[in-house]
Formats: sequence, C-alpha cells, structure tokens
Amino acid sequence: MLTVILIWLSLSSSGERAGTPLSAGRSTSQSLFAQAAAETLRRNFQSRDISFLLLDARTGEFLASRWDHPATPIPLGSLVKPFTALAYGEQHDFKYPTHNCRGTATGCWLPRGHGDVDLTSAIAYSCNSYFRMITASLTVANGSPTLARFGLELPDAEAASLTLAGLGNHWRISPLHMARAYLELIRRREQPGVREVLEGMAESARRGSGAEVDRALPFPNALVKTGTAPCTHSPHASGDGFAVALTPADQPQILLMVRVHGVPGAQAAKTAGNMLRRIED
Ligand SMILES: [Zn+2]
Repeated sequence: MLTVILIWLSLSSSGERAGTPLSAGRSTSQSLFAQAAAETLRRNFQSRDISFLLLDARTGEFLASRWDHPATPIPLGSLVKPFTALAYGEQHDFKYPTHNCRGTATGCWLPRGHGDVDLTSAIAYSCNSYFRMITASLTVANGSPTLARFGLELPDAEAASLTLAGLGNHWRISPLHMARAYLELIRRREQPGVREVLEGMAESARRGSGAEVDRALPFPNALVKTGTAPCTHSPHASGDGFAVALTPADQPQILLMVRVHGVPGAQAAKTAGNMLRRIED
C-alpha cells in the first residue's frame, strides 16, 4: 500500500514546489491518504502514551497527528544533535574531528563506550561523549545563526555547552518546529555537513539507536534520529522517548515524529517503526 500512497503523494504534489505552504492546493487524493493514515494510526495506536505528528516530507503538510500542544516548546533531547553538529561545522569549516568515546569515563550514556566515533557514527549511535566534545567551544551566540536557519527556538544565551549537546531540560523546542527542521535538513541535503548527518540517520536506522524502525519495515529504508528527554506531561514519568523517522531514505515522502511516554528513545523508534508498517499495510 505504501507504493500506492507514494504515487498518490507524487500525483497530488506534481507541479507544486517543495515548501508549499500547508493549506495551498491540498488535493483530494492527498486528503484521502491523510484520512486513511490518521484512521489507521488512531485505530491501532490508541495508547495515550503515544503522541505523533505525520507530515508530507515535501510540502510540510500535516497528514495526521495526535499531540497535545505541538507548538509548545519542550525538551527534545538528542533530536537537536544534527543541528548542533551543523552549528559546529559553521565554526570549523565543516571539518569534523574523530573522538574516542570511553563511555561513563567521557560522559556517554553507553557505559562501555562507543570507541572511535566520527560525526556519522555519533549521530547513528547518539554518542553523548562526541557531542560533549564538539559543543565544548560552542556558544548560543555563535551557534544561533545555524539554529535559527532551521527554525529552532534558541536556548538561553548563557546556556551551558551540555545543553547544546542535547542533555538536560533547559533547551525547549516546539515539536512542530523540530519536525519541520528535519524537513529543512532534507532540503539542504547537498550542503556541507548535512550529508554526514543524513548518513548517520541512515546508519541509525540500520544498526544504531533507530534500528527498531528498519526492523519493523518489510523494506527497510529509513532515516532516523532518536532522543530521550525529561518528561513534561502528566502523569509524570522519569523520561520520554522521541523518534523522528523519514522514509524512503533517498527521497523522503513522509516524516513521522513520535513521543512515547516513559521509555528511552530507542524504544520510541520501535513504536515509530510499527506505525510506519501499519501505514504501509
Ligand atoms: Zn559514546
């Protein structure tokens, strides 16, 4: 069915340029797809623990959603990493270092560490140690032009570098803006730094923190970024898991962003994968 859906989307948007505003020229076929997708997700994923936004990856149009106050900024954890990486790139001629992650000793979430990581693997495995290193010299002031270009809210001017690495709860971003920032990433795929980031997201789907997405799909072919952040809604949990998944990887047609209450990001990726599979069915 995904093929049918993708043909629908192609037909419905032919003649429109990417970036067409939400309400412009919404066609009947696209409405039908949106209705079918919304109904499928509503029927099969009823848990209130799951929030989601489903967007047409080329137009930014909402196809389906269930997310209370998606415009209200909340902590989104490691979902910021691609944009922080590009802010770092602007400052360093897009030359990215390699780094030896030694786990707990260098401040990573994976106790045994990720070993030698470059930007692509740091995105794929969401290595905190790598991002602690590249944000050590990054400030809100020098990173803000890049972050603003992607439409993201900025952290407080005096925010610590750890905040820019996606750690803690001080950097709050609207989920809606974050979903659109990932679409902007796709539009800028030929630009310096973006290629490595997108390779990292493909690697994430294959064997990184987003591997549950590809595992759920009959034809694995996604770009994924996961994140875990302090929970901001009730009933309160210790943390919420996030995943942004785009498919197909080479020319994304849909973007699904999910939040799953009380689980880590890698597990939210499993929910995202199951939702995409249902839509494909
Ligand atoms: Zn690491």
